[in-house]
Parts: sequence; C-alpha cells; structure tokens
Amino acid sequence: MKTVFINFLNKEKNFQPDKKYFFGPAEAAEWGRKNLEHYSPDMMHWIPVKTLQALKIIQGCTANIWSHPKGPRGGKEEPGEVCEYCGKHTPDDKSNYFHILTSGLIIPVSISEETIKELSEAGLINDDSQGCFKIGYTCAKKLLGHRVKEFLVY
Ligand SMILES: [Zn+2]
Repeated sequence: MKTVFINFLNKEKNFQPDKKYFFGPAEAAEWGRKNLEHYSPDMMHWIPVKTLQALKIIQGCTANIWSHPKGPRGGKEEPGEVCEYCGKHTPDDKSNYFHILTSGLIIPVSISEETIKELSEAGLINDDSQGCFKIGYTCAKKLLGHRVKEFLVY
C-alpha cells in the first residue's frame, strides 16, 4: 500500500505544485534523488492515519446504488424526483440524500470529499466523489440496513 508522498514543483507541468505517491520512504527517496534537482527529505510526507482509516471504512462499504437488478434508477432514464436506486417517484419527505462515488458505492457521511480526492490521487481507490443522490426510505433501509444513519447526508 502507498504510504508516503512527495510534494514537488513539476517541471513538466510548468512548475506547478504536484504530489507523487510511493509504497514507502525508501522508494520515495530513491525517486526524489533521481528525479528532483533539489530533493530533500522534508519533501516527503506520510499519508495521514485518518486518510488510511477512511480507506478501511470505504473498503468495508458494500451498498452500491447501481446494484438494482434493472440497473441505475431501476432501468429508467429520468433523473430528478426519483429514487436513484429503484427509479420510483420519491418525494423529499420520503427520502434522504447519500454521498455516492463514481462506482456507485454509497459511503458514510464521516468521509469528506477531500479524503476521497486524496485516496484517489494516491491510487488507493479507483473511484471519485460523484455527489449526493436521493434514495427513498425503503430502498435505503434495504441497501444499508441498521447502519443507514451513518450514511445520511440529509
Ligand atoms: Zn427506491
């Protein structure tokens, strides 16, 4: 697992600040000495424990909004006032919003968009935030069970 990263100014991107992730300090230092003119160990940082904990939580998530047998929105095209899981018309007082990744995975509200971005940049997840989507009470309960409260955005 990638655990460290180097902050540097990327020559190939007009010296914009950039980050590169590595499997450990030895690999990072070797890359730094080889590829950066002014490499110093200060440029190396550990991925925060909080971020790695978030990764574990995400890996434990199994509910996917696109797991409906007929596909996204129950196979219906229309977005909007429908449950993203089953496609049935679902008013706001019979639904909640949930944070969904591009893969369709529903993630707990405790994980920020910034953390998702960090994990994605580090190549620790092959996923990104897609925003918040509406799911009806019944479907949410079916997908998330007793853990539903951990996932409620609003
Ligand atoms: Zn539904």
